[in-house]
Amino acid sequence: MDFSASSKLFELAKKIIPGGVNSPVRACRSVGCDPVFIARASGSTLWDADGNEYVDFVSSWGPMIVGHAHPEIVAAVSLAAASGTSFGAPTPKEIDLASMVVEALPSIEKVRFVNSGTEATMSAVRLARGYTGRKVVIKFDGCYHGHADSFLVKAGSGVLTLGIPGSPGVPEDIVKHTVSIPYNDVSVMERTLRDKVLDIACVIVEPIAGNMGCVPPQPGFLEKLRELTSELGIVLIFDEVITGFRLGYGGAQHYYNILPDLTCLGKIIGGGLPVGAYGGKAEIMNLVAPDGPVYQAGTLSGNPLAMAAGIATLKILQKPGFYEQLNAKADRFADELRGVAKRTGMDVRLNRVESMMTSFFTKEPVTHFESAMHADTKRYAQHYRQMLNGGIYLAPSQFEVAFISAAQSDDDLEKTLKMTEWSFKKLLEK
Ligand SMILES: *Cc1c(COP(=O)(O)O)cnc(C)c1O
Repeated sequence: MDFSASSKLFELAKKIIPGGVNSPVRACRSVGCDPVFIARASGSTLWDADGNEYVDFVSSWGPMIVGHAHPEIVAAVSLAAASGTSFGAPTPKEIDLASMVVEALPSIEKVRFVNSGTEATMSAVRLARGYTGRKVVIKFDGCYHGHADSFLVKAGSGVLTLGIPGSPGVPEDIVKHTVSIPYNDVSVMERTLRDKVLDIACVIVEPIAGNMGCVPPQPGFLEKLRELTSELGIVLIFDEVITGFRLGYGGAQHYYNILPDLTCLGKIIGGGLPVGAYGGKAEIMNLVAPDGPVYQAGTLSGNPLAMAAGIATLKILQKPGFYEQLNAKADRFADELRGVAKRTGMDVRLNRVESMMTSFFTKEPVTHFESAMHADTKRYAQHYRQMLNGGIYLAPSQFEVAFISAAQSDDDLEKTLKMTEWSFKKLLEK
Protein backbone atom coordinates (compact mmCIF):
# COMPACT_ATOMS: atom_id res chain seq x y z
CA MET A 1 0.00 0.00 0.00
CA ASP A 2 1.06 3.54 -0.70
CA PHE A 3 0.89 5.80 2.34
CA SER A 4 2.67 8.83 0.87
CA ALA A 5 -0.24 11.29 1.20
CA SER A 6 -0.71 10.31 4.87
CA SER A 7 3.03 10.66 5.47
CA LYS A 8 3.03 14.18 4.03
CA LEU A 9 0.05 15.16 6.14
CA PHE A 10 1.68 13.73 9.25
CA GLU A 11 4.83 15.79 8.65
CA LEU A 12 2.71 18.94 8.35
CA ALA A 13 0.61 18.07 11.38
CA LYS A 14 3.64 17.41 13.58
CA LYS A 15 4.85 20.96 13.04
CA ILE A 16 1.76 22.55 14.53
CA ILE A 17 -0.03 19.89 16.61
CA PRO A 18 1.82 18.05 19.42
CA GLY A 19 2.79 14.66 18.01
CA GLY A 20 0.70 15.51 14.96
CA VAL A 21 -2.44 14.25 16.69
CA ASN A 22 -5.21 15.49 18.96
CA SER A 23 -5.26 12.33 21.09
CA PRO A 24 -2.05 10.39 21.78
CA VAL A 25 -2.91 6.79 20.82
CA ARG A 26 -3.70 8.01 17.30
CA ALA A 27 -0.01 8.63 16.71
CA CYS A 28 0.41 4.82 16.49
CA ARG A 29 3.75 4.88 18.31
CA SER A 30 3.25 1.54 20.05
CA VAL A 31 2.73 -0.23 16.72
CA GLY A 32 5.79 1.27 15.08
CA CYS A 33 4.32 3.07 12.11
CA ASP A 34 2.86 6.44 11.23
CA PRO A 35 -0.89 7.01 11.39
CA VAL A 36 -3.00 7.02 8.25
CA PHE A 37 -5.10 10.14 7.80
CA ILE A 38 -8.75 9.36 7.19
CA ALA A 39 -10.42 11.17 4.34
CA ARG A 40 -13.92 9.73 4.62
CA ALA A 41 -15.95 6.75 5.73
CA SER A 42 -19.19 4.99 4.96
CA GLY A 43 -20.75 2.01 6.71
CA SER A 44 -17.94 -0.33 7.72
CA THR A 45 -15.37 1.23 5.38
CA LEU A 46 -12.71 3.88 5.90
CA TRP A 47 -10.73 5.53 3.09
CA ASP A 48 -7.44 7.22 3.88
CA ALA A 49 -5.81 10.21 2.21
CA ASP A 50 -4.08 7.91 -0.31
CA GLY A 51 -7.38 6.29 -1.26
CA ASN A 52 -6.61 3.02 0.54
CA GLU A 53 -9.68 1.23 1.82
CA TYR A 54 -10.08 -0.47 5.20
CA VAL A 55 -12.63 -2.51 7.12
CA ASP A 56 -12.97 -0.53 10.35
CA PHE A 57 -12.75 -2.23 13.77
CA VAL A 58 -11.97 0.94 15.75
CA SER A 59 -15.40 2.47 15.31
CA SER A 60 -14.01 5.83 16.46
CA TRP A 61 -13.19 3.94 19.70
CA GLY A 62 -16.79 2.86 20.18
CA PRO A 63 -19.39 5.35 19.00
CA MET A 64 -19.97 4.10 15.45
CA ILE A 65 -22.04 1.05 16.37
CA VAL A 66 -24.34 1.52 13.36
CA GLY A 67 -21.46 2.30 10.99
CA HIS A 68 -20.16 5.54 9.48
CA ALA A 69 -22.27 8.21 7.82
CA HIS A 70 -25.49 6.32 8.46
CA PRO A 71 -28.13 8.04 6.29
CA GLU A 72 -30.58 8.51 9.18
CA ILE A 73 -27.92 10.14 11.34
CA VAL A 74 -26.61 12.30 8.51
CA ALA A 75 -30.16 13.48 7.79
CA ALA A 76 -30.87 14.26 11.46
CA VAL A 77 -27.62 16.20 11.90
CA SER A 78 -28.07 18.10 8.62
CA LEU A 79 -31.59 19.10 9.56
CA ALA A 80 -30.42 20.24 13.00
CA ALA A 81 -27.50 22.20 11.51
CA ALA A 82 -29.82 24.07 9.19
CA SER A 83 -31.79 25.25 12.22
CA GLY A 84 -28.79 26.67 14.07
CA THR A 85 -25.84 24.92 15.65
CA SER A 86 -25.76 26.34 19.18
CA PHE A 87 -27.84 28.71 21.26
CA GLY A 88 -26.57 28.34 24.80
CA ALA A 89 -30.20 27.91 25.79
CA PRO A 90 -32.37 24.86 26.40
CA THR A 91 -33.77 23.06 23.36
CA PRO A 92 -36.49 20.40 22.97
CA LYS A 93 -34.01 17.79 21.71
CA GLU A 94 -32.29 17.68 25.10
CA ILE A 95 -35.54 16.45 26.63
CA ASP A 96 -35.91 13.85 23.88
CA LEU A 97 -32.46 12.37 24.37
CA ALA A 98 -32.68 12.63 28.17
CA SER A 99 -35.99 10.73 28.11
CA MET A 100 -34.45 8.02 25.95
CA VAL A 101 -31.49 7.68 28.34
CA VAL A 102 -33.68 7.60 31.44
CA GLU A 103 -35.92 5.00 29.86
CA ALA A 104 -33.02 2.84 28.69
CA LEU A 105 -30.78 2.78 31.77
CA PRO A 106 -32.53 1.32 34.79
CA SER A 107 -30.54 3.29 37.41
CA ILE A 108 -30.84 6.75 35.82
CA GLU A 109 -33.62 9.02 37.04
CA LYS A 110 -32.00 12.28 35.99
CA VAL A 111 -29.24 12.96 33.50
CA ARG A 112 -27.00 15.93 32.63
CA PHE A 113 -25.35 16.20 29.20
CA VAL A 114 -21.74 17.30 28.80
CA ASN A 115 -19.31 17.24 25.86
CA SER A 116 -17.08 14.23 26.45
CA GLY A 117 -16.63 11.13 28.52
CA THR A 118 -13.89 12.89 30.44
CA GLU A 119 -16.27 15.63 31.46
CA ALA A 120 -18.83 13.04 32.51
CA THR A 121 -16.52 11.12 34.83
CA MET A 122 -14.91 14.27 36.23
CA SER A 123 -18.34 15.70 37.04
CA ALA A 124 -19.65 12.43 38.48
CA VAL A 125 -16.72 12.26 40.89
CA ARG A 126 -17.19 15.89 41.93
CA LEU A 127 -20.84 15.10 42.57
CA ALA A 128 -20.02 11.95 44.57
CA ARG A 129 -17.62 13.99 46.71
CA GLY A 130 -20.20 16.72 47.16
CA TYR A 131 -22.86 14.20 48.12
CA THR A 132 -20.79 12.24 50.62
CA GLY A 133 -18.56 15.03 51.89
CA ARG A 134 -15.65 12.61 51.50
CA LYS A 135 -12.52 12.79 49.36
CA VAL A 136 -11.08 9.51 48.19
CA VAL A 137 -11.80 7.94 44.80
CA ILE A 138 -11.23 4.23 44.32
CA LYS A 139 -10.51 3.07 40.78
CA PHE A 140 -9.18 -0.13 39.26
CA ASP A 141 -5.79 -0.67 37.61
CA GLY A 142 -6.05 -0.53 33.85
CA CYS A 143 -9.44 1.20 33.83
CA TYR A 144 -9.53 4.50 32.00
CA HIS A 145 -11.95 7.24 32.92
CA GLY A 146 -10.80 10.09 30.74
CA HIS A 147 -7.89 12.42 31.32
CA ALA A 148 -8.99 14.44 34.36
CA ASP A 149 -6.30 14.78 37.06
CA SER A 150 -7.83 12.38 39.57
CA PHE A 151 -7.91 9.50 37.10
CA LEU A 152 -4.38 9.49 35.77
CA VAL A 153 -3.27 6.69 38.03
CA LYS A 154 -2.72 3.32 36.33
CA ALA A 155 -5.07 4.48 33.65
CA GLY A 156 -5.00 1.95 30.87
CA SER A 157 -4.22 2.07 27.18
CA GLY A 158 -3.25 5.62 26.25
CA VAL A 159 -1.04 6.28 29.23
CA LEU A 160 0.13 2.70 29.22
CA THR A 161 1.13 2.54 25.59
CA LEU A 162 3.27 5.64 26.01
CA GLY A 163 4.95 4.17 29.06
CA ILE A 164 4.08 7.14 31.23
CA PRO A 165 3.34 6.08 34.83
CA GLY A 166 0.80 8.79 35.48
CA SER A 167 1.36 12.25 34.10
CA PRO A 168 3.53 15.21 34.97
CA GLY A 169 1.34 18.23 35.60
CA VAL A 170 -0.90 16.29 37.93
CA PRO A 171 -0.13 17.42 41.49
CA GLU A 172 0.60 14.78 44.12
CA ASP A 173 -1.98 16.53 46.28
CA ILE A 174 -4.68 15.51 43.86
CA VAL A 175 -3.52 12.00 43.05
CA LYS A 176 -3.13 11.15 46.72
CA HIS A 177 -6.91 11.08 46.92
CA THR A 178 -7.08 8.37 44.25
CA VAL A 179 -6.45 4.76 45.16
CA SER A 180 -6.09 2.25 42.33
CA ILE A 181 -6.62 -1.44 43.08
CA PRO A 182 -6.61 -4.61 40.92
CA TYR A 183 -9.66 -5.34 38.77
CA ASN A 184 -11.51 -8.56 39.54
CA ASP A 185 -9.81 -8.98 42.92
CA VAL A 186 -12.61 -9.22 45.45
CA SER A 187 -10.47 -9.61 48.56
CA VAL A 188 -8.26 -6.55 47.93
CA MET A 189 -11.41 -4.65 47.10
CA GLU A 190 -13.12 -5.61 50.34
CA ARG A 191 -10.03 -4.81 52.41
CA THR A 192 -9.67 -1.40 50.74
CA LEU A 193 -13.31 -0.39 50.97
CA ARG A 194 -13.44 -1.37 54.64
CA ASP A 195 -10.27 0.58 55.45
CA LYS A 196 -11.34 2.98 58.20
CA VAL A 197 -8.54 5.43 57.50
CA LEU A 198 -9.60 6.01 53.89
CA ASP A 199 -12.27 8.62 53.51
CA ILE A 200 -13.94 7.04 50.46
CA ALA A 201 -16.43 9.07 48.46
CA CYS A 202 -16.86 6.77 45.49
CA VAL A 203 -15.73 3.78 43.50
CA ILE A 204 -15.59 4.24 39.75
CA VAL A 205 -15.40 1.18 37.53
CA GLU A 206 -15.69 0.13 33.91
CA PRO A 207 -18.27 -2.65 34.38
CA ILE A 208 -16.50 -4.35 31.49
CA ALA A 209 -12.96 -3.04 31.23
CA GLY A 210 -12.25 -1.80 27.73
CA ASN A 211 -9.10 0.24 28.15
CA MET A 212 -6.65 -2.53 28.96
CA GLY A 213 -8.21 -4.47 26.13
CA CYS A 214 -11.53 -6.19 26.79
CA VAL A 215 -11.52 -7.65 30.30
CA PRO A 216 -14.93 -8.84 31.50
CA PRO A 217 -15.88 -8.75 35.18
CA GLN A 218 -15.60 -12.15 36.79
CA PRO A 219 -18.77 -13.61 38.27
CA GLY A 220 -19.39 -12.01 41.65
CA PHE A 221 -17.02 -9.06 41.20
CA LEU A 222 -19.61 -6.38 40.39
CA GLU A 223 -22.13 -7.98 42.76
CA LYS A 224 -19.68 -7.77 45.66
CA LEU A 225 -18.76 -4.22 44.70
CA ARG A 226 -22.42 -3.19 44.78
CA GLU A 227 -22.99 -4.96 48.09
CA LEU A 228 -20.00 -3.35 49.80
CA THR A 229 -20.58 0.17 48.49
CA SER A 230 -24.23 0.03 49.58
CA GLU A 231 -23.27 -1.19 53.03
CA LEU A 232 -20.59 1.47 53.47
CA GLY A 233 -22.47 4.42 51.97
CA ILE A 234 -19.96 4.79 49.15
CA VAL A 235 -21.23 6.08 45.81
CA LEU A 236 -20.84 3.48 43.08
CA ILE A 237 -20.14 4.97 39.65
CA PHE A 238 -20.36 2.81 36.54
CA ASP A 239 -18.31 4.30 33.75
CA GLU A 240 -20.43 3.09 30.84
CA VAL A 241 -18.82 5.40 28.28
CA ILE A 242 -18.02 2.31 26.20
CA THR A 243 -20.60 -0.20 27.46
CA GLY A 244 -23.64 2.13 27.41
CA PHE A 245 -25.80 0.99 24.46
CA ARG A 246 -23.00 -1.37 23.34
CA LEU A 247 -24.10 -4.76 24.74
CA GLY A 248 -27.79 -4.12 24.57
CA TYR A 249 -30.10 -1.17 24.95
CA GLY A 250 -29.71 -1.03 28.73
CA GLY A 251 -25.94 -0.92 29.21
CA ALA A 252 -23.83 -3.18 31.40
CA GLN A 253 -26.04 -2.40 34.40
CA HIS A 254 -28.98 -4.04 32.67
CA TYR A 255 -26.81 -6.79 31.19
CA TYR A 256 -25.48 -7.82 34.61
CA ASN A 257 -28.52 -6.57 36.53
CA ILE A 258 -26.51 -4.44 38.95
CA LEU A 259 -27.58 -0.86 39.50
CA PRO A 260 -24.94 1.78 40.23
CA ASP A 261 -25.72 5.09 41.95
CA LEU A 262 -24.27 7.15 39.11
CA THR A 263 -23.55 6.28 35.48
CA CYS A 264 -21.25 7.98 32.99
CA LEU A 265 -22.04 7.83 29.30
CA GLY A 266 -20.42 9.05 26.10
CA LYS A 267 -19.36 7.58 22.76
CA ILE A 268 -22.51 5.84 21.40
CA ILE A 269 -24.98 8.36 22.85
CA GLY A 270 -23.36 11.03 20.67
CA GLY A 271 -23.55 8.98 17.49
CA GLY A 272 -20.08 10.23 16.54
CA LEU A 273 -20.49 13.80 17.75
CA PRO A 274 -18.88 15.10 20.94
CA VAL A 275 -21.14 14.10 23.85
CA GLY A 276 -20.96 12.78 27.37
CA ALA A 277 -23.54 12.43 30.10
CA TYR A 278 -23.76 11.57 33.76
CA GLY A 279 -26.88 10.56 35.57
CA GLY A 280 -28.32 8.52 38.37
CA LYS A 281 -30.54 8.65 41.39
CA ALA A 282 -32.54 11.88 41.61
CA GLU A 283 -31.50 12.20 45.25
CA ILE A 284 -27.88 12.59 44.15
CA MET A 285 -28.45 14.42 40.85
CA ASN A 286 -30.50 17.06 42.67
CA LEU A 287 -27.24 18.34 44.17
CA VAL A 288 -26.08 19.50 40.72
CA ALA A 289 -26.29 23.26 40.07
CA PRO A 290 -28.66 25.09 39.78
CA ASP A 291 -30.78 22.78 41.97
CA GLY A 292 -27.88 22.13 44.29
CA PRO A 293 -24.42 23.43 45.18
CA VAL A 294 -22.23 21.12 43.06
CA TYR A 295 -21.15 23.30 40.16
CA GLN A 296 -20.89 21.99 36.62
CA ALA A 297 -21.58 23.84 33.39
CA GLY A 298 -20.85 23.88 29.65
CA THR A 299 -21.21 26.38 26.81
CA LEU A 300 -21.91 23.67 24.25
CA SER A 301 -23.52 21.11 26.57
CA GLY A 302 -26.66 19.57 25.09
CA ASN A 303 -25.57 20.85 21.69
CA PRO A 304 -28.38 20.44 19.14
CA LEU A 305 -26.23 18.62 16.55
CA ALA A 306 -24.95 16.19 19.15
CA MET A 307 -28.45 15.64 20.53
CA ALA A 308 -29.79 15.01 17.01
CA ALA A 309 -27.04 12.48 16.28
CA GLY A 310 -27.64 10.75 19.62
CA ILE A 311 -31.39 10.54 19.15
CA ALA A 312 -31.04 9.23 15.59
CA THR A 313 -28.53 6.61 16.76
CA LEU A 314 -30.69 5.38 19.64
CA LYS A 315 -33.70 5.15 17.30
CA ILE A 316 -31.72 2.76 15.10
CA LEU A 317 -30.66 0.74 18.15
CA GLN A 318 -34.32 0.45 19.21
CA LYS A 319 -35.29 -1.34 16.01
CA PRO A 320 -36.38 -4.91 16.73
CA GLY A 321 -33.58 -7.43 16.49
CA PHE A 322 -30.76 -4.86 16.33
CA TYR A 323 -28.72 -6.27 19.21
CA GLU A 324 -29.68 -9.88 18.55
CA GLN A 325 -28.24 -9.59 15.04
CA LEU A 326 -25.17 -7.63 16.08
CA ASN A 327 -24.33 -9.96 18.96
CA ALA A 328 -24.94 -13.09 16.90
CA LYS A 329 -22.61 -11.75 14.22
CA ALA A 330 -19.95 -11.02 16.84
CA ASP A 331 -20.42 -14.51 18.24
CA ARG A 332 -19.88 -16.17 14.85
CA PHE A 333 -16.88 -13.97 14.14
CA ALA A 334 -15.29 -14.77 17.51
CA ASP A 335 -15.81 -18.48 16.93
CA GLU A 336 -14.11 -18.32 13.57
CA LEU A 337 -11.31 -16.21 14.99
CA ARG A 338 -10.66 -18.89 17.60
CA GLY A 339 -10.61 -21.39 14.74
CA VAL A 340 -7.95 -19.33 12.97
CA ALA A 341 -5.83 -19.23 16.12
CA LYS A 342 -6.15 -22.98 16.51
CA ARG A 343 -5.33 -23.79 12.88
CA THR A 344 -2.27 -21.57 12.85
CA GLY A 345 -1.13 -22.51 16.37
CA MET A 346 -1.02 -18.88 17.45
CA ASP A 347 -1.05 -18.28 21.21
CA VAL A 348 -3.87 -15.83 21.50
CA ARG A 349 -6.53 -15.22 24.12
CA LEU A 350 -9.80 -13.86 22.86
CA ASN A 351 -11.75 -11.91 25.47
CA ARG A 352 -15.22 -10.91 24.41
CA VAL A 353 -18.51 -9.58 25.66
CA GLU A 354 -21.02 -9.34 22.80
CA SER A 355 -19.67 -6.91 20.18
CA MET A 356 -16.53 -5.85 22.07
CA MET A 357 -13.47 -8.08 21.95
CA THR A 358 -9.69 -8.18 22.23
CA SER A 359 -7.26 -10.82 21.00
CA PHE A 360 -4.37 -10.77 23.44
CA PHE A 361 -1.12 -12.30 22.21
CA THR A 362 -0.58 -14.44 25.28
CA LYS A 363 -1.23 -17.99 26.48
CA GLU A 364 -2.47 -16.92 29.89
CA PRO A 365 -6.06 -15.90 30.66
CA VAL A 366 -6.39 -12.11 30.86
CA THR A 367 -8.46 -11.15 33.89
CA HIS A 368 -6.80 -7.98 35.12
CA PHE A 369 -4.11 -5.42 34.35
CA GLU A 370 -1.14 -7.58 35.36
CA SER A 371 -2.23 -10.44 33.13
CA ALA A 372 -2.92 -8.05 30.23
CA MET A 373 0.69 -6.94 30.60
CA HIS A 374 1.82 -10.44 29.66
CA ALA A 375 0.64 -9.86 26.11
CA ASP A 376 3.34 -9.70 23.47
CA THR A 377 3.07 -6.08 22.29
CA LYS A 378 5.86 -6.48 19.69
CA ARG A 379 3.89 -9.26 18.07
CA TYR A 380 0.75 -7.13 18.18
CA ALA A 381 2.62 -4.25 16.53
CA GLN A 382 3.67 -6.47 13.64
CA HIS A 383 0.18 -7.93 13.37
CA TYR A 384 -1.28 -4.42 13.31
CA ARG A 385 0.99 -3.35 10.44
CA GLN A 386 0.27 -6.50 8.45
CA MET A 387 -3.47 -6.11 8.91
CA LEU A 388 -3.34 -2.42 7.98
CA ASN A 389 -1.51 -3.29 4.78
CA GLY A 390 -4.17 -5.89 4.11
CA GLY A 391 -6.99 -3.36 4.48
CA ILE A 392 -8.05 -4.12 8.04
CA TYR A 393 -8.07 -1.16 10.42
CA LEU A 394 -7.45 -2.35 13.99
CA ALA A 395 -6.73 -0.24 17.08
CA PRO A 396 -3.09 0.86 17.14
CA SER A 397 -2.52 -0.71 20.56
CA GLN A 398 -2.79 -4.20 22.03
CA PHE A 399 -4.74 -2.76 24.95
CA GLU A 400 -7.84 -1.69 23.08
CA VAL A 401 -11.09 -3.24 21.96
CA ALA A 402 -12.09 -4.34 18.48
CA PHE A 403 -15.70 -3.33 17.92
CA ILE A 404 -18.12 -5.19 15.70
CA SER A 405 -20.57 -2.79 14.08
CA ALA A 406 -23.94 -3.36 12.49
CA ALA A 407 -22.45 -2.13 9.21
CA GLN A 408 -19.89 -4.90 8.85
CA SER A 409 -20.96 -7.39 6.20
CA ASP A 410 -20.25 -11.10 6.06
CA ASP A 411 -17.74 -10.26 3.32
CA ASP A 412 -15.96 -7.77 5.60
CA LEU A 413 -15.64 -10.37 8.33
CA GLU A 414 -14.63 -13.09 5.89
CA LYS A 415 -11.89 -10.86 4.53
CA THR A 416 -10.77 -10.04 8.07
CA LEU A 417 -10.53 -13.73 9.00
CA LYS A 418 -8.50 -14.50 5.87
CA MET A 419 -6.12 -11.63 6.57
CA THR A 420 -5.82 -12.69 10.21
CA GLU A 421 -4.92 -16.23 9.19
CA TRP A 422 -2.30 -14.93 6.75
CA SER A 423 -0.92 -12.53 9.38
CA PHE A 424 -0.75 -15.17 12.14
CA LYS A 425 1.11 -17.54 9.80
CA LYS A 426 3.55 -14.82 8.88
CA LEU A 427 4.14 -13.96 12.54
CA LEU A 428 4.93 -17.59 13.26
CA GLU A 429 7.36 -17.94 10.34
CA LYS A 430 10.11 -16.17 12.22
C1 LIG B 1 -13.40 6.93 26.10
C2 LIG B 1 -13.61 6.74 27.53
C3 LIG B 1 -13.68 7.83 28.43
C4 LIG B 1 -13.35 9.22 28.00
O1 LIG B 1 -14.21 9.73 27.05
P1 LIG B 1 -13.70 10.96 26.14
O2 LIG B 1 -14.91 11.30 25.34
O3 LIG B 1 -12.55 10.43 25.34
O4 LIG B 1 -13.28 12.05 27.05
C5 LIG B 1 -14.03 7.58 29.73
N1 LIG B 1 -14.28 6.33 30.16
C6 LIG B 1 -14.21 5.28 29.35
C7 LIG B 1 -14.53 3.92 29.88
C8 LIG B 1 -13.84 5.43 28.02
O5 LIG B 1 -13.70 4.37 27.25
